[in-house]
Amino acid sequence: MESQYFIKNGELTHILKLMQGDITEQETDAIVNAANTNMKLGTGVAGAIRRKGGKIIQEECNQIGSSEVGGAVITTGGNLKSKHVIHAMGPIYHQYSPKDAEIHLSNSVKNSLIVLQDNKLSSISFPAISTGNYGFPKQKAAEIMISTINEFLKSTLNQLSVEICLFSINDYEIFNNVARIFLKK
Ligand code: ADP
Repeated sequence: MESQYFIKNGELTHILKLMQGDITEQETDAIVNAANTNMKLGTGVAGAIRRKGGKIIQEECNQIGSSEVGGAVITTGGNLKSKHVIHAMGPIYHQYSPKDAEIHLSNSVKNSLIVLQDNKLSSISFPAISTGNYGFPKQKAAEIMISTINEFLKSTLNQLSVEICLFSINDYEIFNNVARIFLKK
């Protein structure tokens, strides 16, 4: 299940793809880990990345040490199909006011895209950051992620291909409904 949206920016047309699937199977230049600030690959997306990518990813995370909420850092992808993992530090929802949690989620998406570009990469796959263990409401997360990606793509001069890979059909439908309205397909 997937759908594509085209985001125009002058001469450029970026693609935003929404799909249902397992992010560890994606072949984009980078996949995004829903990371924690102490850079320990625990459960959820991080656990799946650790299992498939191998221990090299955790070792590189240990070298980096820790990062701030809203930040993003890059490691290799180990044995994954994707050569890079961008670790995005989404917020634990109940630790912040709703507004601050939204700002942190938006920053983690924006910083992931900046890290992608800084490393001269052009395709990226995001999970629904913070919507698992971290408890971010999915509808709101969809609105924040899609609007942040849209804003970034409308301002970058690099040709980028962005996807959001949702684990369940239900999550895919939540995100796709937001995209349909927000991006007016
Ligand atoms: P967080 O701690 O940031 O909430 P989680 O990893 O617990 O991160 O969950 C984030 C989202 O990723 C959830 O919506 C979860 O259903 C989804 N998810 C878990 N495993 C995968 C996977 N292998 N591929 C894609 N999405 C996944």
